[in-house]
Amino acid sequence: MTELLQMPRGTRDILPVEIRLWQFIEETVVRIFELYNYSEIRTPIFEHTDLFTQSLGHTSDIVEKEMYTFNDRKGRSLTLRPEGTASVVRSYLEHSIHKNEALTKVYYRGPMFRYERPQAGRFRQFHQIGVECLGSRNPILDAEMIGLGVHLFDEIGLTELKVMLNSVGCNICRPVIREQLREFIGDNLKHLCEDCNRRFTNNPLRILDCKKPTCQKYTMGIPMFSICQDCGDHFNAVQEYLDAMNITFVVDNHLVRGLEYYTKTTFEIVSPDLGAQNAICGGGRYDKLVQMMGGPDIPAVGFAFGLERAAMLLQQLGIQGKNPPALTLYVAPQGHLATLQGMELLDDFRRANLRADIDVSGRSLKNQLKAANKLGAEYVLIIGEDEAEQKVGLLKNMANGQQQTLAFSDVLNHFFLGTETVQPIQPNQLVLRGMEEVL
Ligand SMILES: [Zn+2]
Ligand SMILES: [Zn+2]
Repeated sequence: MTELLQMPRGTRDILPVEIRLWQFIEETVVRIFELYNYSEIRTPIFEHTDLFTQSLGHTSDIVEKEMYTFNDRKGRSLTLRPEGTASVVRSYLEHSIHKNEALTKVYYRGPMFRYERPQAGRFRQFHQIGVECLGSRNPILDAEMIGLGVHLFDEIGLTELKVMLNSVGCNICRPVIREQLREFIGDNLKHLCEDCNRRFTNNPLRILDCKKPTCQKYTMGIPMFSICQDCGDHFNAVQEYLDAMNITFVVDNHLVRGLEYYTKTTFEIVSPDLGAQNAICGGGRYDKLVQMMGGPDIPAVGFAFGLERAAMLLQQLGIQGKNPPALTLYVAPQGHLATLQGMELLDDFRRANLRADIDVSGRSLKNQLKAANKLGAEYVLIIGEDEAEQKVGLLKNMANGQQQTLAFSDVLNHFFLGTETVQPIQPNQLVLRGMEEVL
């Protein structure tokens, strides 16, 4: 016998029982993003590997050890996208969108791939939703972006969230910040982990991002970054706009993003329910990325969040998403002619936007009714062999057990006009053969 195959490690099936929650989140996301004048963009799932090494930096964890990279049949190096921003910027430049639009507001959604150690809420194929606003340095957009996140999570039912805010400076003040951080760590470097020791030389800011308790102990109490005047003004303006929008936030000078392309504002929206890895969404300004990727000097700001985490958090809070639409009608036919007529009726129902289905098992009426019950059908239309000849069926209300015989031509109307306007045929005019024991 062939052995049953299982899904690859770090992937998962999202079964119909869970998908309603995902659809609820996705539908809310689309609705809210559109309110803020964002449009969707869809980019390929794989890209040239260079795109990610260029944008994320050779020394980033993603490029160093997490990418799914492969050669295609012509030997080209391709990579399953590990995040969404690089592809959006590539597309923005490739289609010269920057030449036609002063400000571009787009959102994306879909699977991303990273070879990481799978754990609760973290998968190798995961799903991200993100927004990018390209074309302006205005701090209004940083604040609006944060407001959009807060609004979105509010709408899906996550209200106990906190906004954390920081500024990681720009090309001018970053060297000063790095030096400030190196001085602060000083002799304690020997107590930090191996990764942090490497970061100390390359990118010391990322030491603040280390999740190891020892490293966190030695970075506690770090003073505010010495950002330049321009970055300081920008940071103050963002806070002023957030205040105006009544968004409460906490300035957290440990908040640096994992990727090097961030400048000025960084932010996270965190949930106390998610434990140590408590960020539900993270983002910030990346004024240098477009240029780094070979484009003109165009600033941008954005954020992204993972659907797995959002779904996990909603489940913890007992939020199940919307209910599936009710199954209005289940047709229980007896015999070939009844089945043919049932198919025609089904088509009418579905075109009238009513969820409907038919029993295809050919089993006894009793078992067909059992199946209808299990599916949660509101009504069952029983069509016996004789009734099929006369083009009538017995409509049974599954909630109260009431039933009435209706001509086929009246069945659909019954659902739109109500029972009063349809003249039901008296049940005693017809005896449905073989049904006495179950009706
Ligand atoms: Zn600066
Ligand atoms: Zn560390």
